[in-house]
Amino acid sequence: MTNLTYPHYLQRSGWNALLPTRQSKPPLSLDIKVDVAIIGAGYTGIAAAKRWRELAPDDEIAIIDASELGEGTPGRNSGFLLEIALANDANPEQIRRMRECNRLIGQTMNKIVREVEISGIDCALERTGTYRAAAGNAGRKSLLQYRSFLQAVGLPFENLDRQAMQQRLGTSFYRQGLYSPHCYLAQPAALIKALAQQLPRDIQCYENTPATQLRKAGNAWLIETPAATIEAQTVVLANNAFSKTLGIGKSQLVAVYTYAAITKPLDEAMLASLGSDKSWGVLPAHRLGSTLRKTQDGRLMVRSFYGYEKETQTVAVTSELRKNLLRRFPQLEDTPFDRVWGGAIGFTMNGGTLWGEVKPGLFVSAGCNGGGVVKGTLFGELLADLANGQEVPDVPKLFGKANWIPPEPWRAIGFHLLAAVERFRGRAEI
Ligand SMILES: Cc1cc2nc3c(=O)[nH]c(=O)nc-3n(C[C@H](O)[C@H](O)[C@H](O)COP(=O)(O)OP(=O)(O)OC[C@H]3O[C@@H](n4cnc5c(N)ncnc54)[C@H](O)[C@@H]3O)c2cc1C
Repeated sequence: MTNLTYPHYLQRSGWNALLPTRQSKPPLSLDIKVDVAIIGAGYTGIAAAKRWRELAPDDEIAIIDASELGEGTPGRNSGFLLEIALANDANPEQIRRMRECNRLIGQTMNKIVREVEISGIDCALERTGTYRAAAGNAGRKSLLQYRSFLQAVGLPFENLDRQAMQQRLGTSFYRQGLYSPHCYLAQPAALIKALAQQLPRDIQCYENTPATQLRKAGNAWLIETPAATIEAQTVVLANNAFSKTLGIGKSQLVAVYTYAAITKPLDEAMLASLGSDKSWGVLPAHRLGSTLRKTQDGRLMVRSFYGYEKETQTVAVTSELRKNLLRRFPQLEDTPFDRVWGGAIGFTMNGGTLWGEVKPGLFVSAGCNGGGVVKGTLFGELLADLANGQEVPDVPKLFGKANWIPPEPWRAIGFHLLAAVERFRGRAEI
């Protein structure tokens, strides 16, 4: 376990490495006083800042991020932008609640699409839809559950057998699949840059500026960073799992690391062997399964494997990712990875979120549970609404409220035990 208050990764983001170099904004070097300080320039923090500016045009707003745009956690994900609830959120018995969640998520997705268009940055954003795939019984069970949810809310989908999956994706690994059109795929490092580019010019964003401490100082909040301090009337914690290192969410949040790798662009013959769809994305039916993508520019990406509270060494990660990729695509035996990287997820035990005003003037949205590009954007906006006295939907009721998890060492023991059980149950899906 690490005492760092922010993520510090072993490898560069593979997605960001594919983009032209960008000059980051300078770190905070002088003490400042602002109305609102936002910690974390991810999907949540950027969305909160934009919405805040709409509601309070005169407030002085500053955002700080421990990393650089594109290089930090928001630029490390697999780039699935789901327009509807994730398989493990879905509960067909609560149709009305899920419909409302999907309505909110859908609206947010439309805004993201518009902002990407305006930015002019190529994010490879494409509404490809997504496959959910099952190789064994645990996966099939989740797939059936997801199918009944889609049926219940009247959303379109296609059922696919092994042969159809083979034809579309070029692998006979999966016994069964389901295709849903409600998903975009994107280049995540480009996406966060495009969304940040749309920040109003008067909002200062300080990169490479980690918050190392947060405390109350009189009526205000004081944020310490390596070179300077920020005094703010209101603080928004948008730094996901790392909120707990600043004292908020210690009993709800765990930092779970997961890993991804991408190949160089593949040749035509190899691409032809990877199914009839030009680009595709596969999400695992089981939560410990692997995510895969065939990208617009002809690469294959795999995401798999989890680490508790600290990043696993790259050699071990690479071998695990290769094994999982080759189980599905043995034809890639001689194709090395171009990049391998990890990223931290804010994990909560029950999949709920930590959201709202936790102390006077201190707001938080954390616990993305591995699916927070669109949801984070939504929660960030709603947090700004809440802080500015707007009427907001009951986020914890709609999306779940993070429950209590025991302290260490019980937490680590529980996590490893649960992970072992889940790994065994879902072994065919990994
Ligand atoms: C490998 C991987 C694949 C994933 N795939 C998907 C996917 O396909 N689709 C999806 O929706 N989600 C996916 N996720 C999850 C997704 O990345 C997150 O849900 C999303 O990024 C959450 O956005 P956020 O803004 O809430 O938090 P984050 O993206 O975690 O951003 C938090 C920001 O806070 C900064 N920060 C942290 N601590 C501090 C501090 N002390 N001081 C200052 N700044 C700080 C970080 O640098 C970071 O930029 C994946 C995650 C990983 C790691």
